[in-house]
Order: sequence, then C-alpha cells, then structure tokens
Amino acid sequence: MTNKYVYFIANWKMFGDLKTLNSLDKVIKFSKDNKKKKFKIIYCPPSTLIRPLSKRLKKTKIEVGAQNCHESDKFGPFTGQINSQMLKNVGAKYIILGHSENRLKGDDNKKINLKIKSALKAGLKVIFCIGETLREKRNKKTKQILSKQIQVGLKSVNNNSKIIIAYEPIWSIGSGIIPKPNDLIKSISFIKSKFVKKSPKILYGGSVNPNNIDQIKNINTIDGFLIGGASQDPKKFIDIIKKTIN
Ligand code: PEP
Repeated sequence: MTNKYVYFIANWKMFGDLKTLNSLDKVIKFSKDNKKKKFKIIYCPPSTLIRPLSKRLKKTKIEVGAQNCHESDKFGPFTGQINSQMLKNVGAKYIILGHSENRLKGDDNKKINLKIKSALKAGLKVIFCIGETLREKRNKKTKQILSKQIQVGLKSVNNNSKIIIAYEPIWSIGSGIIPKPNDLIKSISFIKSKFVKKSPKILYGGSVNPNNIDQIKNINTIDGFLIGGASQDPKKFIDIIKKTIN
C-alpha cells in the first residue's frame, strides 16, 4: 500500500469528551514526523467535539468528519437532529453515512441516499458504509445486499469523486473477527465492478487492530481503513498506521 494515499479514518462513535482530545497529541506528533509519507488521517468524533477538534488540528494535516446527519438540508423542527450544513459550519469536512449502527436505528437505503445528497450539497465528502450481516453472508446474499446498498444509496449521485466507500461486514464490527483476505479481495472487487465509471476509493472497516493489520494491509485494492475501537487508543491507532505505511 505504499504507492498511494492510504486513509485511516477514526470512528469514535459515542465516546470522548473535551479531555479526550489531549490524547491526540501523540497522533499529531506522529503525523508531523511522517508528513512526507502518503497517508491521510481523518477523525470522526461525536458532534460535540467537531469544533474543538478542528481548532486543535488547524495546523496539521489531520482532518475532521462527522458520524451522521439528518437528511434535510434546511433548518427544521427536528428536535435533537443536526444537518450536514451545520456540521460543515463547525469544521467537518467528511461525514460517515450508512453506518450499520444507524441502519439498525432506521436508516434504510433510501434515507441514506437523501443524507448522502444533502451532505454532498453541503460540501462534505461522504464515507459511505455498506456491508452484510452474518445471516446474509451465510445465506450467500452478500452480493445482492451490497448491490442494493450501492444502487439505492448512490441513486442520482453522478460524481463519485466525493464518495469513499467503507466496506464493513456487520459481523466483523466490534467482534474481533476480520474476513479471510481472499473473501475480502472478492468483496472489494465486486464493489468495484458496480461502477461503470471510475470506482470510488474503497476502505475496509471491522475490528482492525495492530494484531491483524498485517493480514490485510497488502491488499492493494483497498485504499485504507475505517477503524472504530482501536482508534480511541492513540498507541494502537499509530501502530496500525505504522505497520501499514512502513
Ligand atoms: C466501525 O464501527 O466503523 C468499526 C470499524 O468498528 P470496530 O473497528 O470497532 O470494529
């Protein structure tokens, strides 16, 4: 993976407060020390931390993203919701959409499509998560599920240059289990085959950690990793990056 930019996207989920941001000093130093290497770090913290984190990362190459948004691109009477314009306004440059934890709470493919379009309109780059459940995998439905997620999720999105796909098999998220490299290669190549024009960048996500990164880091069709649990520990996060880029 050394000849292209490799993405390392940290999904902090609902973890972290203002104090947690101090733990990033190590990652900032690592990023500065390795500024000539071809990798990109993007932190997606809870919405409450987007503003303070963007300020803290101002003079660095590390960027900030959000984790979800409401589908409306206008202000509206939606208590507790935040739209993509608002996230952009406080410093987000990216947004994770279609994450399985939000699909479980009602984000279906159509709603995700609306969210993607509103995020693109706001000028955010979209990290679009797709992936199958264990049952779907066992029933050999993976291709069917991925096709549908891509077809509906990206309907009327004509330009893929602001889309990054994160292939996250749901059975792998937080389970400690990663796919066999050959299966992963097949799924990534299937996803790529769905794009007639240039395919978006494709990341892998699900239980990536310093102990298993060696098994998947050399799959050259993967453009990087979306990392949940391990991204909350700066040492583990840096170890994953070091092992991949060196
Ligand atoms: C995720 O939730 O996007 C994720 C990849 O989580 P984890 O790395 O903890 O499996």
